[in-house]
Amino acid sequence: MIIFKTGSDLQKWIHRKKEEGKCIGFVPTMGALHDGHISLIEESKQNADITVCSIFVNPAQFNDPKDFEKYPITIENDLRLLEDSGTDILFLPSVKEIYPDGYKNLPHYELGNLEKVLEGYYRPGHFQGVCAVMHKLLSLVNTDKLFMGQKDYQQCMVIKKMITLTGIKAEFVACPTQREPNGLARSSRNMRLSPSAIEKAAAIFNALTFIKNNINHLSSESCIHKAKEMILSAGFDKIDYTDICNAETLEPVVYKDEPSVALVAAFIEGVRLIDNMLLD
Ligand code: AMP
Repeated sequence: MIIFKTGSDLQKWIHRKKEEGKCIGFVPTMGALHDGHISLIEESKQNADITVCSIFVNPAQFNDPKDFEKYPITIENDLRLLEDSGTDILFLPSVKEIYPDGYKNLPHYELGNLEKVLEGYYRPGHFQGVCAVMHKLLSLVNTDKLFMGQKDYQQCMVIKKMITLTGIKAEFVACPTQREPNGLARSSRNMRLSPSAIEKAAAIFNALTFIKNNINHLSSESCIHKAKEMILSAGFDKIDYTDICNAETLEPVVYKDEPSVALVAAFIEGVRLIDNMLLD
């Protein structure tokens, strides 16, 4: 695996590979890698010629400075996992490399309702920061195929929209959520949880499964009410949202037969976890 720390070196290398007709797969991450990330690498290795992974903890997308400070960093382990997975290139830029002029006056992306609801509502500015870094990374990597996780459902929608808005020519590939044996979605933030909280945190998956199994014969309100009860009684401190939305717009669901998705954000041991499940 080759490690690049500057965008210009990375671009030169990618340029040569593009001239050879290679398809570039890209997996952007914030590090603290786990099997969820590695599943994206595997997907890229199967569907592209070259797999580029980036590790960059993007300060512009943290609306809460404490969350940024506490974000886990496990670079030695990350390097080992990436080597083992056969990643070709790791892009490991500094903040200065990505934001030479700082990150206070970034371009604005017209995300509309997508950044007003759910994560957008509870984390103001978050998706603008995500778009800023992804716009920069996608350009530097000259991406043919972008692999991202459905675990961050709304983020997938935001990035697809940003790609359309900017005219970037990258194909978006959404990859399924990888879970712990108890159903908890794998996440870098799980590293901050005690073993007992990891057990309790399966309540999010159980609540989403309850909604999926019951949405056809119970009202949305009853499903949401029961799901919240399941999450809180398992030991979560606070729920930001438990909601059922149109899977293509994230607007409220009006008709029972709309494609829909259930989404949750909740805190346990002060750690904010998110997850979602498509409802057939
Ligand atoms: P992060 O490092 O959390 O920014 O995530 C980097 C990429 O990995 C994003 O596209 C995430 O959606 C994806 N990802 C995170 N957790 C999982 C998971 N449990 N399963 C699949 N993809 C994931």
